Amino acid sequence: MKTTIRAARGTELSCRSWPQEAALRMLHNNLDPEVAEHPEELVVYGGTGKAARDWNSFHAIGRTLQTLKDDETLLVQSGKPVGVLQTHEWAPRVLIANSNLVGDWATWDEFRRLEALGLTMYGQMTAGSWIYIGTQGILQGTYETFAAVADKRFDGSLAGTITLTGGLGGMGGAQPLAVAMAGGVAICVEVDRTRIQRRLETGYLDVEADSIDHALQLATSATGPLSIGLLGNCADVFPELLRRGAPIDVVTDQTSAHDPLAYVPSGFAPGDEWSVEQARESMARHVEAMVGFQDAGAEVFDYGNSLRAEAQLGGYERAFDYPGFVPAYIRPLFCEGRGPFRWAALSGEPADIAATDKAVLELFPEHESLHRWLKLAAEKVQFQGLPARICWLGQGERHLAGLKFNELVESGAVQAPIVIGRDHLDCGSVASPYRETEAMLDGSDAIADWPLLNAMVNVASGASWVSLHHGGGVGIGRSLHAGQVSVADGTELAAQKLERVLTNDPAMGVIRHVDAGYERAEEIAAERDVRVPMAAA
Ligand code: NAD
Repeated sequence: MKTTIRAARGTELSCRSWPQEAALRMLHNNLDPEVAEHPEELVVYGGTGKAARDWNSFHAIGRTLQTLKDDETLLVQSGKPVGVLQTHEWAPRVLIANSNLVGDWATWDEFRRLEALGLTMYGQMTAGSWIYIGTQGILQGTYETFAAVADKRFDGSLAGTITLTGGLGGMGGAQPLAVAMAGGVAICVEVDRTRIQRRLETGYLDVEADSIDHALQLATSATGPLSIGLLGNCADVFPELLRRGAPIDVVTDQTSAHDPLAYVPSGFAPGDEWSVEQARESMARHVEAMVGFQDAGAEVFDYGNSLRAEAQLGGYERAFDYPGFVPAYIRPLFCEGRGPFRWAALSGEPADIAATDKAVLELFPEHESLHRWLKLAAEKVQFQGLPARICWLGQGERHLAGLKFNELVESGAVQAPIVIGRDHLDCGSVASPYRETEAMLDGSDAIADWPLLNAMVNVASGASWVSLHHGGGVGIGRSLHAGQVSVADGTELAAQKLERVLTNDPAMGVIRHVDAGYERAEEIAAERDVRVPMAAA
């Protein structure tokens, strides 16, 4: 079925109350052609991450939300509405479980067999939980990583540093803008000229260099943030820059190394055919140069694309000498309950997001990288679908933002309610041993009780809809994760719910990391009153 979906705007309700209306609008917003990759197939992002199982399910969810009462709860099983139960006004209006399979059956083959029978769907993280906001999330996550690199090594700013990276694709294309936003200079090596062109056109990349010399000259003479695209193969360019002793401070990579048939080996062009062995051999040279930069004193990290594992298979033994980005930079943030807090304006008015941006800036005057991000985001980010914003906030901060937004709705400073949610990639909501929970201090990488507890906590705290998924980010069999979305509709009841949800949800991150033995999480728990019965302190 072909149809164009777009969320309603303004203050007229087609449901009984705002929480139901918000769920309906956010389901529709996920499938807005500005937001979704393949809306005609209900696919929002991330391969085949879907918002509803099929068109009949999509329409049935909409019809049900439009009649759902304030003391009822809709159940969604892998994108299909399967029941409505009487609950109470503090209960979520929607409960969602997507893509879950019993352990021994949790393989892509079995999932695809069941999907072909029409029994399940792949929900990714925010596709099947109706809180995807387009590429702003990728840009912000990448910015947050580079800001954390700056905090760790360069006194809070990448000013005066040069970052070398590879890949300007769907995700990797956010790197040049993110590095520039963090104050630095980026050299981005990309083997496909059309990708460089695309990033120049969308303002994510500043200039293209026509040779290695030119790139180095531009980088070393830059007097402020600058991003430079360089056509070439990382397996050739990285070793050459190392050989020349180029003054590189940070090295990472986002080529498509997760799939050896997508990573272009040295001597090949995109679209050619090559073998897995040829790709791995090039990846080994690529990673050898990265380790060389680390030996020379640069900050080097893996950006979640399996490059290290493939290089090791290609025969390079020191591939795992540098860390993954979560243990290196993101985990300390997770210990503080920090994570991807996001919100959308149901009015459809960009001015409402401007008002919320201003409110967040005023609430956290001392938070430098947050200020830098919000100011640049207001300038550079084009909204996709409903106007939305994302920024990372932690324990003790998120509920203040939520309560402030609720006040803005109540006073009429914004024109309609604000929906507040987050990615499932958050501090206490995911078990994913190849990414978010890689190398936990106590070895608890694969313990999946935490996302289950997180979902239950959000149900118990009054979220508007709660979801529990399997397989997002890294695929079936490899992760379990939970999400929550809450609606600030300006009522006293919403204020009470927001205070609990936005305190307890990030508290799960603090608790999870206290339990794993992280000192920073213990400090935060003590400082911000998170009670942990068996904490060491
Ligand atoms: P993509 O396929 O859209 O882009 C990859 C780019 O790399 C392409 O433009 C390709 O031309 C280029 N490339 C391939 N081989 C190259 C080589 N040898 N030298 C230079 N350029 C080369 O992929 P994407 O969506 O941008 O994702 C990039 C990688 O990041 C993937 O492996 C993905 O799994 C991973 N990823 C990481 C995270 C994270 O948490 N950090 C999240 C999602 C994806």
